Order: sequence, then C-alpha cells, then structure tokens
Amino acid sequence: MNNVLIPKSIKNISKILDDGVILTDEEGLIILANSNAQEFLGKNLLNNNISKILKVKELKNFNKVFKNKSNKKEFYYQTNDQLKRSLIVKIKKINKTLFLILLLDMTLQRNLEKVRRDFVANVSHELRSPLTSLVGFIETLLSGNVNDEVTRSKFLKIMDEEAKRMNRLIDDILSLSRVETEEHISPSTSISILDPINSVIASIKERGLIKANKIIFEDLRSNINDQCFIIGNFYEVTQVFTNLLENAIKYGFDDTEIIIKLEQFDEKEIIINVINYGEGIPQKYIDRLTERFFRVDKARSRKIGGTGLGLAIVKHILIRHRAKMSIKSELNNQTIFSLNFPVSQR
Ligand code: ADP
Repeated sequence: MNNVLIPKSIKNISKILDDGVILTDEEGLIILANSNAQEFLGKNLLNNNISKILKVKELKNFNKVFKNKSNKKEFYYQTNDQLKRSLIVKIKKINKTLFLILLLDMTLQRNLEKVRRDFVANVSHELRSPLTSLVGFIETLLSGNVNDEVTRSKFLKIMDEEAKRMNRLIDDILSLSRVETEEHISPSTSISILDPINSVIASIKERGLIKANKIIFEDLRSNINDQCFIIGNFYEVTQVFTNLLENAIKYGFDDTEIIIKLEQFDEKEIIINVINYGEGIPQKYIDRLTERFFRVDKARSRKIGGTGLGLAIVKHILIRHRAKMSIKSELNNQTIFSLNFPVSQR
C-alpha cells in the first residue's frame, strides 16, 4: 500500500458524520473507514479493495473510474446482508492519490416510500370493489331486463350500501391524512375528558347503533364531581371514542354490556377503558390492529361496514395528544381498549 497521507480534517469529520466515510488510494485500497461505513458494509474494510466490497460494475476497474473528465461518481447500492440497506454511494477524487467515498443511508426513506406505495395500492383496491359492484348493478338496471319492483329495489338497496361504503372509506382516508400530518403538533385547547365521552354515548344512542347492547358509564375516580381536563381537541377525542365504541358494538356479542370505565390513580394521568364482550382478538394480531387496513377477519369487517382505518386514526390522534393505548383481549370474553391521557393542570 502507498503511504498516502490522510488529511486530519477528513479523519475528524468522519467521526462525527452520520454517513459512512471511506478513503481509498488511487487503486481503490481502503485506508480509512469510519464506524458508520463499517456498520453499513462490515468490519473488515481496512486494507481491502473497495471493488471487492462493493461488487458493482461502476467500480470494476477502480483506477479507470475517473479516466473521463468528471471527478465525481454517484450510484445506488443495496447491501446483500439481512438488512438490505439502501445506500447512495458518492465517490470524489480529492487528489491524484486520494479518493473519498461517502455512503448515505436511504433505507428509512425507501421504507417510507414503500409504505406510501402500499397505501395507495390498498386504497385503490378498497375503492375498486364497491365501485365494481355499483357499475355491475347500474348496467343490469340500464339493460331494462329487471322488470319486477322487488328485485329493482333490492338492487338499489345494495347500491346504496356500496356507495355509502365508498363514502365512509373516503371520509376515513381524509381523516387519517389530516391527523397524520398534524400528529407532531400538540392541541392548543384544554377540554374536560367527560365531554367527548358523553357526546359519543348520546350520539350512539340517538343513531340507534346498539344491537341490544347496554352502554354503561362507570366513573371510579375518588371525586366524581370534579372535572378532569386534558390538553385536547374535542373533535379528535370524540372521534377516538366514536371509533372505539362503534368497534365495541360491531365486534361485541348481541345483548351484552359495553362499559366505559374512568379511573385515576394520581394527578398526572387519567385512564379510560372501553370494554366489550365478544369473540375477542387472537393475541398474535393485537400489535397489528392499528396498521392501516388491518382486520382480523376482512370479510366480516367489510360486511359490518368497517374500513380497516378506524384504529389507525385512533393511533395518530393519540400520538398528537401524547396519550397511550393498550389492548387486552380474551377469546369469547372481554376485550379492553385502555387509553391513558396526561391530565392538564388548569
Ligand atoms: P374496522 O373498520 O375493520 O373495524 P378498525 O381499524 O377499527 O377497522 O379495527 C381493526 C380490526 O380490529 C377490526 O377489523 C377487528 O378485526 C379488530 N377489532 C377492533 N376492535 C375490536 C373489538 N372491540 N373486538 C374485537 N375485534 C376488534
């Protein structure tokens, strides 16, 4: 190896950068690799040739890489270990004998792009099925072959349900997109936690959503005459309880109790449990419930009007409110969605 002098400034900067930094001589022999470069490409970098580490056509003949006028080169590289990191590799000729290689880790951006692509694909799929059904019924009705009133009104009823499903889905997608963009901004108002809860219970009773379920509100705080304030947005917290209570009804057995239990053990936080009795959720799915479009039983959720976005919306609203949610479920017994909100000292 040539005795190439490593500039001290590069050595120092390489220690504080989040990117991988490698220096090579004119043959591609690695003479410096910072800890990030080692994390991305492996520990044994020093004294190896970069073309043996990054096996890409761009580096096949390292000393010829910069034969043309340009003294910069950039390409995309994916590591072939388990992590499959996405790196942008930037090579710059510093002088005749020294080359700087920067490794920029783009894995997070790539994953986010994948999540976004999957979401768009899911949304299109979810919208397409009611739309296909609607188009089918419209064509049948337009053909003039459905003459009896009973069949016609049956078709119209299905079309009405499908159109409403599309509407719900679009409402949920818009809500999700709004709460997601705002999740890092704390709400600016202080509200009593009792207000959204009471409003949701009243609205559910008014809309007649109860399948002979009884909604019970239990306030177990030591002084139930006190208000309990949180820093919160009334409409968003209302949406949280709407989604949880509607789920409790949808997935609860008929004729069972739905309990909303308020507990407070110290001045710092308030706990609200939404409890229902139903088939329950298998343990292995609990952590996935807040993923967009995740449903334990897709067909069943669809049939009862679910979009698969309710708990994803809840999750993002809770992040914005610095609140936490835990879920416990016993098959054919109780399911508890437990929310923990920080209390605001008014
Ligand atoms: P959906 O619109 O399908 O109800 P959610 O995001 O609100 O979507 O819920 C995701 C999934 O979580 C549901 O499809 C269901 O499988 C499950 N789930 C939610 N709440 C309950 C509950 N109280 N009991 C049983 N399963 C539930």
